[in-house]
Amino acid sequence: MIAILGGGVSGISAGYHLGLRGIENTVFEKKPSWGGLCDNFTVDKKYRFDYFVHLSFGDDEYLNKVFSKSTDYNIHKPIGYNFYHGYWIKHPAQNNLASLPAEVKTKIILDFINRPDITDPKNYNEWLLAQFGDFFAKNLPGAYTRKYWTIPANQMTTDWLGPRFSLPPLEKLLKGAFEEQQENYYYIKEMRYPRKGGFKAFLQKMAAKTNIHTNKEVVLIDLKSKRIDFSDHSSVYYEQLVSSLPLPELIKRIKDVPSAVLEASKKLLNTSGQLVSLGFNRPDIPKNLWFYIYDEDILPARAYSPSLEALDNAPADKSSLQFETYFSKKKRAKLKGGALIEHIVEKGVKMGLFSNKDIEVSDYREVKYANVVFDFNRKKNVAIIHEYFDEKKISYIGRFGEWAYLWSNHCILSGKRGAEKLIIDQ
Ligand SMILES: Cc1cc2nc3c(=O)[nH]c(=O)nc-3n(C[C@H](O)[C@H](O)[C@H](O)COP(=O)(O)OP(=O)(O)OC[C@H]3O[C@@H](n4cnc5c(N)ncnc54)[C@H](O)[C@@H]3O)c2cc1C
Repeated sequence: MIAILGGGVSGISAGYHLGLRGIENTVFEKKPSWGGLCDNFTVDKKYRFDYFVHLSFGDDEYLNKVFSKSTDYNIHKPIGYNFYHGYWIKHPAQNNLASLPAEVKTKIILDFINRPDITDPKNYNEWLLAQFGDFFAKNLPGAYTRKYWTIPANQMTTDWLGPRFSLPPLEKLLKGAFEEQQENYYYIKEMRYPRKGGFKAFLQKMAAKTNIHTNKEVVLIDLKSKRIDFSDHSSVYYEQLVSSLPLPELIKRIKDVPSAVLEASKKLLNTSGQLVSLGFNRPDIPKNLWFYIYDEDILPARAYSPSLEALDNAPADKSSLQFETYFSKKKRAKLKGGALIEHIVEKGVKMGLFSNKDIEVSDYREVKYANVVFDFNRKKNVAIIHEYFDEKKISYIGRFGEWAYLWSNHCILSGKRGAEKLIIDQ
């Protein structure tokens, strides 16, 4: 039997793709339901919220086939907004400065023109300065980095950036500063979301064909005897092992793991997420699918609207918003639980998003592993751990097995690759 640890999208993909080849496997998931970050929960039995995942925007044909086999879905235009000191700016802000006051626009434009000529940026901050100039870099992406990634931009590498940023030439930046732009400069052109059942409905077909055991929390792995012990005191023996567990969690569960590998796992940095989910007794509260918040006295980094993603996520004539706040071992959470809900409600009212009487339900929860942080410790320590896994023939998959910036679509491919690697190694 092949044991697959973790029943998120990566583990399910590995199980599904092994199953397609007729290879026996079992997915072990610690929670009572599968899905991981793609799972969802309901508040008051009527408002559905996802655990972090939002929309599908992969353009790979194979993935879209896997997803669309599972469910009907809505197609959204990806129009997001930014909140900056009382002003609403269409996303990406650098293309849409029109609504900012003249003195702020002037500073941004002057600093953009005089931006330093850094050809080989040594960190993310230098990269931001070289692209946007001092004022914009510091006050928009720089501030967002401290809120979302929990460390300053000069402590981050640039190898995760890909096509994420729009980089307008001066002419386009000026046009966007003078008048509202109709064109959408966001790098993603289409976003999809299941009509019913939350994001997880995209995974339904794969999950239905996969042998998933829930409530199975791995507590110990003995690589010599090939035995896994679970918190319910049961055990299984496996022939091969695939894991999507976060590397620090997996490493500390392996019996007699070398100290160098254990030390490497302790140096990895991830963010944890706090989700504050609000249900409103009116249908018209959220105006946009999502928005970012740059002000650092407002704790959440951004918010999404589940009820705009799909009507099915809220009762008829009602709506919802979910706020995301991040912390890590480098930045402690300032507020938790009810105190964070109160803070967000107070700030949301001030931002003009809703009034107190609009709120029907509220919910707070935390997720320990949200984002992998690309700091300067990541690469070398991940290499130490992966080398050990290769030697021990453990296949590592997914966002937290690869320890990389993977979306759900990448995770499907990661699970598929992990499964295929086992087949080749057999
Ligand atoms: C803020 C945020 C926004 C995102 N937005 C999007 C988006 O809009 N679109 C998109 O495509 N992707 C998005 N993603 C990425 C996407 O959610 C993840 O890439 C994907 O869900 C990760 O899947 P995974 O299976 O690799 O990991 P996980 O979903 O974390 O699965 C790992 C599983 O292992 C289980 N586990 C942990 N420890 C144990 C143990 N000891 N024993 C047994 N099981 C265990 C966990 O419960 C979990 O179910 C977002 C992620 C974040 C954090």
